[in-house]
Amino acid sequence: MRLRHKPWADDYLKENDQVVVQEPFEWKGNWKSLFEHKDQPLHLEIGSGKGQFIAGMGKQDEEINFVGIERVKSVIVGAVKKVVDAQTTNTRLVNEDAEDLRELFGPNEVDHIYLNFSDPWPKNRHEKRRLTYHTFLEQYQDVLIPGGEVTLKTDNRGLFEYSLMSFSQFGMIIEEVSVDLHADEDPLNVPTEYEEKFSAKGQPIYRCRVRFKT
Ligand code: SAM
Repeated sequence: MRLRHKPWADDYLKENDQVVVQEPFEWKGNWKSLFEHKDQPLHLEIGSGKGQFIAGMGKQDEEINFVGIERVKSVIVGAVKKVVDAQTTNTRLVNEDAEDLRELFGPNEVDHIYLNFSDPWPKNRHEKRRLTYHTFLEQYQDVLIPGGEVTLKTDNRGLFEYSLMSFSQFGMIIEEVSVDLHADEDPLNVPTEYEEKFSAKGQPIYRCRVRFKT
């Protein structure tokens, strides 16, 4: 992703506080109260990029509350614009590093986690940085409800195979696997920016949905 310095980004993120959560750590354990419809499930995307997925999901399913986390300020501004344009009240964004989700969310607070086109970190010595390394799975298990789900989409076969192995070594249940999501034609699939880019080059998109055991 190309990073451009955007000096106006700070102001833009502050001005749009109906979408951007300004003090996210203060909402730990209380995220539902941030939304108009407080009793809805909470779905979380890690690494939202420019926000096409989270904005699209918010519009597609208004009975779910969505939170997208993106650590790069010059990137998240694109997501903020899309969520503002969507005119939804069920989608909020957080400009933080999701290094440890347990600092942001309390136990059992999240219903579903999406990992979309996460950085693959192909070198063995960087395995610990992959968002499906077991230390991340431990965090997900802690913040998710019992039996909570994780959905992963990627164009990267290496990351996909690694993740399936990591999920099953962790004792998770593999609910659904697609090795060519676009050929499977899921009408509810909301494509991300990276997904459109890789798919246009003819690359298959991999997706799996997995669940922690109760
Ligand atoms: N999900 C988007 C898509 O599919 O178009 C963006 C994919 S991009 C390869 C990965 C994004 O995840 C980048 O914008 C990066 O800044 C973000 N990211 C990676 N690790 C993160 C972390 N620990 N916390 C928050 N964002 C992270």
